[in-house]
Amino acid sequence: MSIQPIRLFGDPVLTTPASPVEVFDKELRKLVKDLTDTMRDAPGAGLAAPQIGVSLRVFVWDVDDELGHLINPSLSLSEEMQDGQEGCLSFPDVYYDTPRALRVVARGMNMHGEPVTIEGSEYLARAIQHETDHLDGILFIDRMPGESRKSAMKEIRESEWFGSAIAHGREPVIKVSPHSTRGLGI
Ligand code: ZN
Repeated sequence: MSIQPIRLFGDPVLTTPASPVEVFDKELRKLVKDLTDTMRDAPGAGLAAPQIGVSLRVFVWDVDDELGHLINPSLSLSEEMQDGQEGCLSFPDVYYDTPRALRVVARGMNMHGEPVTIEGSEYLARAIQHETDHLDGILFIDRMPGESRKSAMKEIRESEWFGSAIAHGREPVIKVSPHSTRGLGI
């Protein structure tokens, strides 16, 4: 088990588009394991590789007791939308309503290089969209309506952790405390 420090908002790796995985080797399987261990330790409902400082198109999730991972995803989204609270392990204790597509079909590969298709709705669909955004350097604050984004940014600037990512690079590791809406960041 190898739990990695989670990068916080302010770390440039979080706003950098990640590269596609080209080699499906032991290193990649270790990355999936590290992501899974780090997500479960946080605890969180999802985690993308850039959140542990690895700029590759890989993410994991743990939603409704189902663990999964996806590599090089491409998404088809439903037109029907959902609203609901969303958090992110890279923004400790920040939760805001964030609109997302209600359903998603995600195509990609598993860690053995085999093609897989994941169909999800509601919270799984939300997590998959949130994690895929991470791979494009897009953060959940970018998906919020203007007014929410303003309040979120104010709360973030006033938070204890803000600036620590810039000042100390990888430090500190902050655990997300329980909160409503599953209490889990993604
Ligand atoms: Zn996130």
